[in-house]
Amino acid sequence: MDGESAYESKPSWQERPAWGAVLLTAYLLLAALPLILAFALKPSSDDPFLEELGKGAALLGFALLALQVALGARLRLLDAPFGLDVVMQFHKGMAVLAGVLLLSHPFLLALGGHGWHIFAVGAAWQVNLGQIGLAVLVLLILFALLFKKLGIEYQLWRYSHKAAILVVVVGFVHSMAIGPDLRNTGMKLYWWLLLAMSVGLFVFRNVFMPLWGRRRFRVTGVQQETHDTFTLELDPVAGGPIRHRPGQFMWLKLKRPGRPSEEHPFTISSSPTREPPMTATIKQSGDFTDTIGQTQPGDTAEVEAPYGRFSFLHHAPGKFLFIAGGVGITPILSMLRCLKDTKDERPVVLIYGNKTEEDIICREELEDLPENVKVVHVLSAPHEGWNGLKGHITQDMMGGQAKEVLAEADVYLCGPPPMMHMVISSLRGVGIPDKRIHYERFAI
Ligand SMILES: Cc1cc2nc3c(=O)[nH]c(=O)nc-3n(C[C@H](O)[C@H](O)[C@H](O)COP(=O)(O)OP(=O)(O)OC[C@H]3O[C@@H](n4cnc5c(N)ncnc54)[C@H](O)[C@@H]3O)c2cc1C
Repeated sequence: MDGESAYESKPSWQERPAWGAVLLTAYLLLAALPLILAFALKPSSDDPFLEELGKGAALLGFALLALQVALGARLRLLDAPFGLDVVMQFHKGMAVLAGVLLLSHPFLLALGGHGWHIFAVGAAWQVNLGQIGLAVLVLLILFALLFKKLGIEYQLWRYSHKAAILVVVVGFVHSMAIGPDLRNTGMKLYWWLLLAMSVGLFVFRNVFMPLWGRRRFRVTGVQQETHDTFTLELDPVAGGPIRHRPGQFMWLKLKRPGRPSEEHPFTISSSPTREPPMTATIKQSGDFTDTIGQTQPGDTAEVEAPYGRFSFLHHAPGKFLFIAGGVGITPILSMLRCLKDTKDERPVVLIYGNKTEEDIICREELEDLPENVKVVHVLSAPHEGWNGLKGHITQDMMGGQAKEVLAEADVYLCGPPPMMHMVISSLRGVGIPDKRIHYERFAI
């Protein structure tokens, strides 16, 4: 193919650590700016200490809350240096911090001399607005932290989460109407900037991207890989292939007549070295994926990609140890295909765990890899007659099967969470440093 056009083996500037450092510095500055401004404008105050603390908590809490919209907007500029999973973990942590700061605000004010009437229903409208915003924020944070435990559907949680933008708007009106620090022009300007940024990014994510920001694809083939796993082949309706790293993922929204359209993350299992179609290999594992086999050639899809940093192109390994469990093979398939197409001769060991032989995805292709790639299958519940390795992937098994690469290899791991836990602690147990262990979680 005109391979070079879709395959770029060097990291772009957005993927380099220096860009990550710039973003982190910008984030810290933007978050701390209201405190810096408040102190600069009023270095000494006669107000009680607790009241000052309460006002500071609100300023920092609101700035963090407004910045949450940027962290949650799935911006590729943020994904590129950190990975979306890391950004989302940070987003969750900052949500809790913002919640704690904003919740402490009325208590500190009350203790600092404002009195407990600020909690009363019949307080001034500006105070009531703050109470409502805070109550909704606490509910949203609890909902986000507990929705899985409460068995609430992911899509329902996702829609409810969008209500958080109202909390930003309510917080803005409340603080502009009542906050003494916001009487200053500099602070007012900054507050307007935070509001414009968060509302702008909210509109970008929820209106612009769905309407104009996604690439259109057509399903040109649906291959059944195993009893519960299918590969969709996707051809761009217009334009060239998506430029991605082997191992990255996309957000895929299938448009199938008579079926609801939902956006889900799936690895791009094809290699960027190949001509379209781009592929996604999907296992039936829930409400949406259970219907994947009913996808028909001719159905269409909207794609946002590429995302993620699970790719050997970000490191320079001399040797590779790939460890996959079940459908966790998909990013590794993309990397193996890329290594094969670029005639890369570095030594590779793949240890691939499944329940039975029937669960092995792309078995024939794995058996047909070049000589530098050793493939080891491990089955946890094999049928009679299986002569290969049995059980789970253990420290001893890795030491034995991957001994030729283990001492120097970078390890790429993707599979079910319990397996990932076990393998990571085994790898640490045999002395592999964390910087050589790379993994992808199929959860965001
Ligand atoms: C980076 C990444 C790459 C992935 N690659 C693949 C792949 O190559 N092949 C494959 O089969 N699976 C892959 N997955 C997993 C796939 O996204 C989920 O299996 C699928 O979204 C489950 O949806 P469901 O409605 O069928 O199941 P449900 O039972 O409804 O959901 C199960 C869990 O999946 C997650 N989930 C559900 N819906 C969404 C959504 N819209 N967005 C984000 N998460 C959601 C939630 O954690 C939920 O608790 C990947 C996931 C991630 C994060």
